[in-house]
Amino acid sequence: MNIHEYQAKQLLAKYGVAVPLEIPAKSLAEVRPAAEKIVAGGSAKIVIKSQIHAGGRGKGTFKTGFQGGVKVASSVDEAVSLAEKMLGNVLVTKQTGGDGRRVQTLLISEAAKVKKEFYLAVLLDRAAGRPVIMASTEGGMDIEEVAGKHPEKIFKEWIDPAVGIMPYQARKIADALGLRGDPFNAAAKLIAGVFKTWWECDAALVELNPLAVAELRDGKETVVALDAKISLDDNALYRHKDLQEMRDFNEEAPLEIEASKYGLNYIKLDGDIACLVNGAGLAMATMDIIQHFGGMPANFLDVGGGASKEQVTAAFKIILSDPKVKGILVNIFGGIMDCNVIATGIVAAVKETHLGIPLVVRLEGNNVIAGRKTLAESGVAIIPGDSMADAAQKVVKAVGSP
Ligand code: GDP
Ligand code: MN
Repeated sequence: MNIHEYQAKQLLAKYGVAVPLEIPAKSLAEVRPAAEKIVAGGSAKIVIKSQIHAGGRGKGTFKTGFQGGVKVASSVDEAVSLAEKMLGNVLVTKQTGGDGRRVQTLLISEAAKVKKEFYLAVLLDRAAGRPVIMASTEGGMDIEEVAGKHPEKIFKEWIDPAVGIMPYQARKIADALGLRGDPFNAAAKLIAGVFKTWWECDAALVELNPLAVAELRDGKETVVALDAKISLDDNALYRHKDLQEMRDFNEEAPLEIEASKYGLNYIKLDGDIACLVNGAGLAMATMDIIQHFGGMPANFLDVGGGASKEQVTAAFKIILSDPKVKGILVNIFGGIMDCNVIATGIVAAVKETHLGIPLVVRLEGNNVIAGRKTLAESGVAIIPGDSMADAAQKVVKAVGSP
């Protein structure tokens, strides 16, 4: 699950990370008082930032033609007039795809006097089996581009999960960024806070791009998180009630939201053969074998290890709401699951949805004899598949793919 920049910064601030003074605004009426507060806080300029779950906002373009999803205003009036051009409109960036995202929240922020921009992220290094902190002097830029062209400009520090981040490691990173004096000390504290946020929230990614050295009013320098992105690990969300509440359904595909209500893992694709499978690995293999025999999968759908009748029915409805779907392949290996339960679910779902397209079912495993009997005696038109290859060939043939 992804959260917005303003939510990410609220979390980071809780763990001692320095962030600018900023206020989210969900309507135009909220923009003026927010901007007034920023000015009263001592900032002459006001930054207005579109809140969408995608990066590249600064260089993005609204569908209205208005340039830039991140703008700086010199007065409250200007902030309001910029906000009018952003709020409610669709912003297209390098990361949104052509459809773009509708901006429904703005972040009204103090304008930091930026001296230098850095990149800082915490993520899991799967190969090393431990968290890694990545830092680079090339801040504000596309980090994939830096990784491709100048991998030597990315500094990495691995963290022992049993110990957590040691103070010397945070200092090592601050040093690698070339920081000295006040910003060095501030960065060491900030880096420890960023790691703590990642750890305590069960995040998959915490990314500050840019992390900035900024000049304070007294002329001293410090570091501050100017932009923040946090992706949370869905599998750990159950133990974070407060984080679950940060979910923004406006940012998610409607069918995928519906699927997640039933504990189904669904991703829509472009083909015409829908698949319903238990287990992510088997679902991937099913998509592969459909392609192998010349078909195109319409989706990825993992019903999990112990699908119920309700889940199977919901899965059918979700599959069928994609108008491109011309056939369905159900591929179930009953390890934990009872094949007869799934067979009963399939029959009920076919009847309830008045299924009118070819359905191929391959069942294997626990209580499969009873399951096959249920399907055969159900009176509904189901094409049985003997093996994965057989089932895939049958469904490709049935939808008339080459
Ligand atoms: P992104 O384009 O979606 O990554 O959005 P960012 O939050 O990174 O904003 C884009 C750029 O705007 C940053 O790289 C900064 O250079 C600039 N920016 C954002 N906030 C401030 C600020 O408070 N002061 C100044 N001077 N620049 C800012
Ligand atoms: Mn950014």
